[in-house]
Amino acid sequence: MPRTVYLNGEYLPESEAKVSIFDRGFLFADAIYEVTAVVDGKLLDNDGHVARLARSCGELEMKNPLTAEELVHIQKELVRLNDVKEGGIYLQVTRGSSGDRDFAYPENTEPTVVLFSQSRAVVDSPKAKKGIKVISTPDIRWRRRDIKTTSLLAACMAKQAAIAAGCDDVWLIEDGYVTEGGSSNAYIITQDNVIVTRPLSNDILHGITRASLLKVAKQENLVIEERLFTIEEAYAAKEAFISSASTFVWPVVAIDDKPIGSGSPGPIAMQIRETYIEFALAQAV
Ligand code: PMP
Repeated sequence: MPRTVYLNGEYLPESEAKVSIFDRGFLFADAIYEVTAVVDGKLLDNDGHVARLARSCGELEMKNPLTAEELVHIQKELVRLNDVKEGGIYLQVTRGSSGDRDFAYPENTEPTVVLFSQSRAVVDSPKAKKGIKVISTPDIRWRRRDIKTTSLLAACMAKQAAIAAGCDDVWLIEDGYVTEGGSSNAYIITQDNVIVTRPLSNDILHGITRASLLKVAKQENLVIEERLFTIEEAYAAKEAFISSASTFVWPVVAIDDKPIGSGSPGPIAMQIRETYIEFALAQAV
């Protein structure tokens, strides 16, 4: 079944949704995006995604084309029209097109707004049960990783290197410290059960799942330290995991071919996954 997608005010069959070759999203990756998880046909943690979209727009002096209410309406329409039970809604806003190629921001362009749905298992995903293997690789991305831009080629290169190495994903390293995963936030659990994750700054994306997960972990009386950690500290960790809207929580069972803890998904990561999903579902819209 071809999907129904949203483009600039219209719901269209996916093959009919077309964007200009002069669109700055295409020419410069002058575009931002969000991914909201869908479970039981409902949007998870969506307030956070809508708020981060507005922030990204602000950082790039880009017009935020839709109100929160309008956005949520479109997201829900796509869930309905495509009968999405589980998966996600992808949303992208570009600065639009001035009809030519020019680096400086053009005045008065209308943003291009695209949303589409993706149906797939997120709660019962095999990787959540088995865990993932990651390789570490230098973080070669730009210095504004807090902006959720579609400029993702560095992440594509890194993830491709992971696949070539027979692994699932990457942990990115800068000055010896882990920044984040290829498309996720990164965490370790120390031998004395402290959850460690990098503090928020322009070096990482401010994960919406990360924010909820830390709230949930505090409620569960887990000890959290937001600080830098090295890849060596990660090798020696009791457990490791990642978080994102697409994965929720996936245990990391090996880093650079070194098993983490027992080499199978750790109990604390699995507990955080369960608790996060319960928490997010209870507030889903
Ligand atoms: N870091 C990066 C680099 C990401 O691409 C993502 C997911 N898009 C995340 C972290 C996790 O963010 P969220 O929990 O909001 O999906």
